[in-house]
Amino acid sequence: MTRGIYLDGHATTRPDPRVVAAMRPYFEDDFGNASSKTHPYGWRAEEAVTRARSQVAKLIHADPKEILFTSGATESNNLAILGALRGHSERGDHLITAATEHPSVLDVARAAAEQGAEVTILPVDGRGRVDPDQVRAAITARTVLVSIMAANNEVGTLGPIAAIGALCKERGVLFHTDAAQAIGKIPIDVLESGVDLLSISAHKIHGPKGVGALYVRRKNPRVLLRPMLFGGGQEKGLRPGTLNVPGIVGLGMALEIARNEMAGDSKRLAGLRDRLQKGFLDRITDLVINGDQEQRLPNNLNVSFSYVEGEALLLALDGVAVSSGSACTSEKREPSHVLKAMGVSDTMAQTSLRFGLGRFNTEAEVDAVVERVAQAVERLREISPLAQAAKAEGTEMVQSGSVHNTAPGGPREAGA
Ligand SMILES: *Cc1c(COP(=O)(O)O)cnc(C)c1O
Repeated sequence: MTRGIYLDGHATTRPDPRVVAAMRPYFEDDFGNASSKTHPYGWRAEEAVTRARSQVAKLIHADPKEILFTSGATESNNLAILGALRGHSERGDHLITAATEHPSVLDVARAAAEQGAEVTILPVDGRGRVDPDQVRAAITARTVLVSIMAANNEVGTLGPIAAIGALCKERGVLFHTDAAQAIGKIPIDVLESGVDLLSISAHKIHGPKGVGALYVRRKNPRVLLRPMLFGGGQEKGLRPGTLNVPGIVGLGMALEIARNEMAGDSKRLAGLRDRLQKGFLDRITDLVINGDQEQRLPNNLNVSFSYVEGEALLLALDGVAVSSGSACTSEKREPSHVLKAMGVSDTMAQTSLRFGLGRFNTEAEVDAVVERVAQAVERLREISPLAQAAKAEGTEMVQSGSVHNTAPGGPREAGA
């Protein structure tokens, strides 16, 4: 079985060979438990964990003491939100988040609401952006935490993190950001941006699955987290359980590579993404690029191909690994909650594919994908009654979104 061209980099990424090489010894001779204080096996494991903690801290300008290792961004999001609500319950019980967050934030918000918290879910505009003024207006005397993602995993829109961080500081409210997609793609500085809690996942940035981190600010203000798990006291008791040493080493290496190579990598990714986008716009009519055209991840492209069902397009796209909507919710086969929140109709949302480029993609792959998508869209439209009817009438399907295209070669701005 050939696996095909991998363009599903928002779901997961290929571990960098340097990451795999760094992890390997910790599966072999250096297999010790980082909590074992009585022998070199333990010491070597602990050294590796200490090194990884600095590697993670350095990328976001944090202190290593402010980094907790977790099983990934899902756990980090859970711990940040529930842990901060519980730890700061003397202040209140109000949480503010947004409609386009990852399920590991939105479902936590729902769980918190069931447990009695007051939850405000802010809307977004047609490009998927949260308005900082709406965040400000939603803050009450009982607000404990604002949780707004740094970059969206479906449409790539960046959150106005610095603006929200500043206003949270002003109002004395904690600010959490899910940076699973942003880490290693855009520079993030927790001091400059006023972030108090930040979630990281290794496997979204060419590291291993099942490991991540949570940044927890220690001063100005000191975040008081309450743990979700109880046990052996690791990670200051905030996240007990034997540390995943090989995974943590992989996370550290992935983030060190990101820190050294992000500038060049992101530029190259944006070049590939723009090539993919231009290829589609040149070859395919009636498409909409979803998300913000300026404040966006360099590696994301989310496109609605009018009249073509996304699932059918996926099947027709033999040899291209992409996803329709979000991989995390694709089992539900419901239109994407992100596109819905942006005002995209269910019909158009169902024609959407998400492309996620990564470090190992090439121009030749991008060109091959443009070709295959263009051919598949053309074939599917030939047998789509809707497409044929629209063609006969000379109408077009337009929706809220950033760019749509009715004639090859000519993108133009649509109302957001
Ligand atoms: C992938 C992802 C997560 C979940 O991360 P895991 O490490 O897989 O648990 C959370 N938030 C966003 C934005 C993501 O893209």
